[in-house]
Amino acid sequence: MSDYSTQQLMEKDKAHFTHPWTVFDVYKHEGALPIGRAEGCYIYDTDNNRYLDAVGGLWCNNIGTGREEMADAIAEQVRLMSYSSPFVDLTNVPATLLAEKLASLAPGDLDHVFYSCGGSTAVDTAFRLIHYYQNCRGKHDKKHIISRKSSYHGSTFAAMSIGGKAGDHPPEFDYLSDTIHHVSAPKFYGDSSGKTEAEFLDALIQELEDKIIELGGEDSVAAFFAEPILGAGGVIVPPQGYHQRTWELCQKYDILYVSDEVVTAFGRLGHWFASADEFNIQPDIITCAKGLTSGYQPLGATIYSDKIHQVISEEGHGRCFAHGFTYSGHPVACAAALKNIEIMERENLAGNVSELAPYFKERLESLLDLPIVGDVRGRGFMWCVEFVANKDNYELFPEELDIGKRISNLADGKGLIVRPIVHLNVMSPPLNLTREDIDFIVDTLRSSIEEVV
Ligand code: PLP
Repeated sequence: MSDYSTQQLMEKDKAHFTHPWTVFDVYKHEGALPIGRAEGCYIYDTDNNRYLDAVGGLWCNNIGTGREEMADAIAEQVRLMSYSSPFVDLTNVPATLLAEKLASLAPGDLDHVFYSCGGSTAVDTAFRLIHYYQNCRGKHDKKHIISRKSSYHGSTFAAMSIGGKAGDHPPEFDYLSDTIHHVSAPKFYGDSSGKTEAEFLDALIQELEDKIIELGGEDSVAAFFAEPILGAGGVIVPPQGYHQRTWELCQKYDILYVSDEVVTAFGRLGHWFASADEFNIQPDIITCAKGLTSGYQPLGATIYSDKIHQVISEEGHGRCFAHGFTYSGHPVACAAALKNIEIMERENLAGNVSELAPYFKERLESLLDLPIVGDVRGRGFMWCVEFVANKDNYELFPEELDIGKRISNLADGKGLIVRPIVHLNVMSPPLNLTREDIDFIVDTLRSSIEEVV
């Protein structure tokens, strides 16, 4: 696997690899655990300890790792043609066939695909496409974007600015705040201030409409960005009816609805796309990445409607949509996506999610008898457990206690990887998980939580 010991690898890593979201002063003391290989739902460290990866990499490992036929599809494409330019007068076969496939899987008239390198660039593409579209319509003042607090849309400049997690928005990076605005996250547990769910929903909808009007309404607001379930912001499942009503407001004010399905697409909630199939709305744009290739290759896609395409492709605009990447429609990444989708269809992995989600939910909810488990929420194979110091008044643990990380570290020691996000443990496992895997996840979480209470 490697000529180096785990300790040596950790030292080399600490010396040279700056990881995403590094807290530098903590990083001086801790090192990252080197993972040497992976198979299905399991990852193995360089000392060959095995862990069930209940995070699915980073919400992306939908079909499980180490599939021979994925390796073959990727190798075959590399041998045939590892790269060719995507710029206008050239194309490549996997990119064409994948665009056709995505158009057939995406809801309604979402028939057009712009490729990029991952989720953030898919969101950036949507942002630029929206402004381009509004300019083509002659609506030069229609530029405001509304998103939600606690949302996560990526780490490029525009995607970061659309995101609403306070910690990701330090003032030194807040250059787009004149254009991008955030309304409340639809988090009922802990944030509902004593309202019923119906009252809470009404207040959210009123707040969004007030924000639209404050910004100048139909003439000024270009788009609303929403993850069907907020992921990195804490697996927030909005109240019943939220999606429908926000979408209706967008219709009323001629605002494009962008569903950021970087996490929720490709089976994670038991469907190809959650916005339409789980929440019954028809977005104008869907951004996706992650499960599109299950992490075998980096790839993002911005899938947009005939309505947008018709406007921007009309003759006479005399301008170019000056946006794109060297690796837009990379043939190897597109070949991986095609094979990934073929496997998902053949093995009916979305069906496995639908079948096992109720069991996953029931087993996770059994943890609510523990004194610090305040909430368990999610859908499909996207879940979190929220820890609280006091269930009666939603008192949180002090941040310096790092409760989520303390519990996930204990779980690591028992062969389970879950993702700590402040006072949460988050799960988004591969979609071919079994009942036995679910039992292992929940039993291991229980014993880890019991160790800290
Ligand atoms: N959008 C959502 C909803 C995400 O969860 C993420 C990443 O977690 C992104 C966008 C950014 O994707 P990437 O990290 O591939 O750029």
